[in-house]
Amino acid sequence: MPRLGIIGAGPGGLSLARLLTERGHADVTVLERATRIGGKSFTLHHQGLGHEMGTCYTAAGYTITQKWMKEAGITDHNLPHHYIRTTDGKLVDFADFVLGRGGMLPGGVQMAKYAALWRKFHAWDVAGCPDEAEGTNGRAMRLEVAEPFGKWLKAHNLDVVARFAMRSMTIMGYGPMDQVPALYGLRWNMPSLLYSAVAHKVVEPVPGWQHLWEFLAGTMDVRLGKKIEKVERLENGFRVHTGSDVLRFDHLVLTGALDEATSWFPFTAEERAAYAVDTGALAWREYVTTLVHAEGWFKDADTRSFEANALDSSAVARSRLLVARRTGDKTPVALARSASRPDVYVCYQPGNPKRTDAQLLEILKGDLEGEGAKIKEVLTQCRWKYAPQLSTAAITAGASHRFERQQGAGKLWITGASASHEAVDNIVDYNERLVERMELAFAGKAPSDEAAFAMVAKKFRGDLGEF
Ligand SMILES: Cc1cc2nc3c(=O)[nH]c(=O)nc-3n(C[C@H](O)[C@H](O)[C@H](O)COP(=O)(O)OP(=O)(O)OC[C@H]3O[C@@H](n4cnc5c(N)ncnc54)[C@H](O)[C@@H]3O)c2cc1C
Repeated sequence: MPRLGIIGAGPGGLSLARLLTERGHADVTVLERATRIGGKSFTLHHQGLGHEMGTCYTAAGYTITQKWMKEAGITDHNLPHHYIRTTDGKLVDFADFVLGRGGMLPGGVQMAKYAALWRKFHAWDVAGCPDEAEGTNGRAMRLEVAEPFGKWLKAHNLDVVARFAMRSMTIMGYGPMDQVPALYGLRWNMPSLLYSAVAHKVVEPVPGWQHLWEFLAGTMDVRLGKKIEKVERLENGFRVHTGSDVLRFDHLVLTGALDEATSWFPFTAEERAAYAVDTGALAWREYVTTLVHAEGWFKDADTRSFEANALDSSAVARSRLLVARRTGDKTPVALARSASRPDVYVCYQPGNPKRTDAQLLEILKGDLEGEGAKIKEVLTQCRWKYAPQLSTAAITAGASHRFERQQGAGKLWITGASASHEAVDNIVDYNERLVERMELAFAGKAPSDEAAFAMVAKKFRGDLGEF
């Protein structure tokens, strides 16, 4: 039984640890530098109410996560009321906005067309993004998905999907549609996600995401407050130094931002190139969530988003408000005190590390004033390093394929947002496939050769995002 060390107790590390232990790999240790579990999943409790400051939603495709949620006794709260303020200043129900004047029928036809295209993409993606793949022209796919997602959708005449994707991509902080490579748009916008939006299956877990990760961690060896100081590569494994321990592992898994790991992890030249560690091929964005108590704002909806700020790349760059979510009223505690419940909102802005907290707050105040609302109190502000994405040039040059081919070499594995996409479902699905390859490595076989990818592709290419 190999000894496995996982660095980071966020969704990437914990879900991988859980999948491995479910398959009988008991010798797994997770090391987390923070004193809190969950990484970018963070349920903040304030005056008895729970507020998701990071991960918020689950949808129909989150089958593995929802199975774990059920075990943890987590229920869900449906979020049916989404309104969007359109560029002409009107407030429109989001489903009507997406379907446009055509209504359900052309919307359904487009979604079916999109699902067929997505299925081809998915077959290529789970096969490790090769140029030669059974049933797909891999090279053409690589060039296509390197282009911005907005351009890809336009080329396929998918305007209904593009309106949906503006919300699921730009408003969710993944970047403007004329910038984010289609690779990430396609990974995230599974047919099951589109279905969830129209079928009202986008839900918020109660009492919260944090609870799920704490539940999973409770059955595993997870050590908090363990900042890694140094990792040594041994002939057949790793020696990991934290401030208080020295631990020996046969295999090591890194999560989180690899550029930050360069100070303590001895990456080889091949790893730096393949994982785009500090080559400039992979960039991170910032996403900022601010919990405010506001007067005079919406009470009739779960979320309100802003088309003008999402459509305009310069407004994204200026950290304008993208969406706000009325929060804290769905937890059991909150229901009991709903009469005295304050009007609390989580506001989402694209960030910029050069902007101070105070500057971001000024921009937010201005946007709320434009809405006729006033911030009474700022309860907290979180700044997240977010949405790692390979550049168009890097994807064109085959970076996603090289990333996959490096996995497992030297018994080093990478997971989390930078290996798939910044969403829990993508990460968990990726881990499910990674575990298959890790098991090959444990059995002394190659985890990243043609046979390994053929096995994974056969097993996973058929699903429509668990539709
Ligand atoms: C505002 C916001 C809203 C979101 N909404 C959703 C949503 O609705 N649905 C959804 O599916 N996803 C959502 N996400 C995305 C989701 O939260 C992330 O994709 C997920 O948390 C990424 O998991 P990860 O393990 O890759 O990284 P992280 O969550 O960042 O976890 C990495 C962990 O590694 C630890 N770590 C890093 N370096 C070290 C080190 N040297 N030593 C020890 N530990 C280390 C970190 O402290 C951290 O705990 C949202 C994220 C944000 C920020």
